[in-house]
Amino acid sequence: MQFEFATATRILFGPGKMAEAAPLAASMGRRPMVVTARDLVHTPSFLEQLRAGGLEPATFSVAGEPEVSTVLEGLRQARETGCDMVVGLGGGSALDAGKAIAAIMTNEGDLLDYLEVIGRGRPITMPPAPYIAIPTTSGTGTEVTRNAVLASPEHGVKVSLRSPYMLPRAAIVDPELTHSVPPSITANTGLDALTQLIEPFVCNRGNPMVDAICREGIFRAAGSLRRAFMHGSDSDARESMSLASLFGGLALANAGLGAVHGLAAPLGGLTHAPHGAVCARLLPFVMEANVRALENRAPASPALARYDEIGRLLTGDPKAAAADAIRWVHSICTDLSILPLAHHGLTGSDIPVVVTQAQKASSMKANPIPLTDFELTEVLTRALD
Ligand code: NAD
Repeated sequence: MQFEFATATRILFGPGKMAEAAPLAASMGRRPMVVTARDLVHTPSFLEQLRAGGLEPATFSVAGEPEVSTVLEGLRQARETGCDMVVGLGGGSALDAGKAIAAIMTNEGDLLDYLEVIGRGRPITMPPAPYIAIPTTSGTGTEVTRNAVLASPEHGVKVSLRSPYMLPRAAIVDPELTHSVPPSITANTGLDALTQLIEPFVCNRGNPMVDAICREGIFRAAGSLRRAFMHGSDSDARESMSLASLFGGLALANAGLGAVHGLAAPLGGLTHAPHGAVCARLLPFVMEANVRALENRAPASPALARYDEIGRLLTGDPKAAAADAIRWVHSICTDLSILPLAHHGLTGSDIPVVVTQAQKASSMKANPIPLTDFELTEVLTRALD
């Protein structure tokens, strides 16, 4: 057995931990670029705390999921205002934008040079500017991952800026920051977190540390996502979802993902649908396709026993199996009003190009079994309406 496990230098978790953000920032710089979600309720008080601590923050707000141009504009402003560090405060969008800005602040050249797939994939060689990531949604786990996902509208895809150097210097995960997330975003992001626990648990690049993290995360998400959706101020549910999201990030950064994320990359580039909404809709159909393909073509694969275990973790029934896991996920998607992909603008005629691009996505390579074009087409067709 051989594996490597890497994460943010420090992880601070728990209700009220946000109070430690300003002193921590003061230990890393003097002029932070605070990259936030637009109109985020937590931003004004955080800026006050930074100023009270003697810092001179500049701000950059991110509307929607970040594009290559978003990062270039943030970088321009960070340079113009003399920022020496970055703090990301928001959902995955603000956190990824901040992570990419911090990385490019210290690495010369054009951002495109460093992007995979659409750029030259040049490696990041200098450590980024100090970066603190503070998530305000429970979904992406990007506070502990080494990539930033950026959309390129010209190319119609989402791609990553990726480097081991990009693991944040600190991740502050304060569940209280997520109480204000509205139900539909709680649903989409929460199912993204669950996907990021299920895919690494069944993928072909797992390891025992990731497995332990996934088991705990799946169990937590199963017991708390419905409650967080229905009662946004249920602090136990929000705390469990924050932990599930963090664990999803730890898992995906140290194992692999699978076909849900393989399909989500081109779908996000083509439709601009929120990442969580796409993952949520695809998850049960991909689970079905994977279990069927494994039963037919690789009946001895350990991934089948993993799906059975997911059934037990999700339902709490010691006799549950893979079919129960699939039923459970379909049922929560219905209860949380997850919308079909047609609602986000996907049409049947888009499916062939999505399938072709998804087959090339890095996440697809970690799926427990290669899915055929026919199987991926079937997944998308079922998720469409
Ligand atoms: P998001 O950051 O786009 O946020 C969704 C919405 O919620 C936004 O309108 C935002 O303003 C709002 N919001 C955020 N926090 C809030 C709060 N506390 N109260 C009320 N509203 C709030 O959504 P997300 O799902 O967190 O992030 C999605 C992005 O993350 C995508 O670009 C996706 O590709 C990326 N992602 C990155 C990784 C990674 O490892 N780098 C992993 C998964 C996803």
